[in-house]
Amino acid sequence: MRATLIYGAGDIRVENVPDPVLHEPTDALVRVLRSCICGSDLWPYGSRPASEQGDRIGHEFLGVVEDTGADVSGLTAGDVVVAPFVWADNTCDFCREGLQTSCRHGGFWGANGVDGGQGEAVRVPQAQGTLVKLPVGEDSALLPSLLSLSDVFPTGHHCAVTAGVGPRTTVTVIGDGAVGLCAVLAAKRLGAEQIILMGRHQGRTDLGRDFGATDVVAERGDEGVAKVLELTGGDGTHAVLECVGLRPAIETAFAVARSGGTVSRVGAPQYPEVPMGFEEFRRNVTLTGGIAPARAYIEELLPDVLAGEVEPGRVFDTVIGLDEVPAGYQAMADRTALKVLIRP
Ligand SMILES: [Zn+2]
Repeated sequence: MRATLIYGAGDIRVENVPDPVLHEPTDALVRVLRSCICGSDLWPYGSRPASEQGDRIGHEFLGVVEDTGADVSGLTAGDVVVAPFVWADNTCDFCREGLQTSCRHGGFWGANGVDGGQGEAVRVPQAQGTLVKLPVGEDSALLPSLLSLSDVFPTGHHCAVTAGVGPRTTVTVIGDGAVGLCAVLAAKRLGAEQIILMGRHQGRTDLGRDFGATDVVAERGDEGVAKVLELTGGDGTHAVLECVGLRPAIETAFAVARSGGTVSRVGAPQYPEVPMGFEEFRRNVTLTGGIAPARAYIEELLPDVLAGEVEPGRVFDTVIGLDEVPAGYQAMADRTALKVLIRP
């Protein structure tokens, strides 16, 4: 079969690899219907040291179950399923606490001999716990939104939930990438009163308005902070959803948090320290967030997707085949594509 490998920064190749086979009785084989490129794939794309053999990549996919191991129940060949971006048994103590990203028997796609999602098929470890069956056919028009349940929509939702977003909450979302836009959608879905989206790409912030943003701030740094404060009577917002992962974004986040407010970050941090000095202490600002346990949220978000009440799949603005994946990475790195959907 064909699959995507990363050989180093800027070096993505689609190659023939061995067809996946069942290794463990808890495995399933899934033929990939849709996959995509993540903003977080751009970090290794920008900086990974060169390697001789290459590594499989991709952590968002949905597909059709082709075969299951002897210990997998509840899934049969032909089922359409979505995989969260971390695989997990969904039964250990961390999983039961809704933290499948810390599963004692789980792990990441494209690491330690586990397939990546940007290919024609995937061997899914801990399949019974990992995969969620979708009540749709292979040709469903909902596939893009259902694919977003793999990562970006639950990640935006996790950001909003951990920041305590609810009715009457005021929210600032930092970042107009796919996760930021999904965080807007999640905040709206949870009843936020005011949602200020900080982003400077108008096509993206327009989609953010469709998703529920009440205000858009294109300015960055001190100017951006001043605009948010102006929109909130000088106070900042109860919740700040940091969906970028860069130092200037987390600095802005603390500066626009209301006293007593919460900053949640779900952008993979590319900085070792956060600004939590006396000023943040004085204003009782909380920092939360982290890698989103997508698996914990899929059942909760799925009905709204199936009903068409939310359309997170609108973040996909580019559709490509597997052979175009290297160009897809470059398009996302160049910001000419918001999020790239792959049809293997
Ligand atoms: Zn677990």
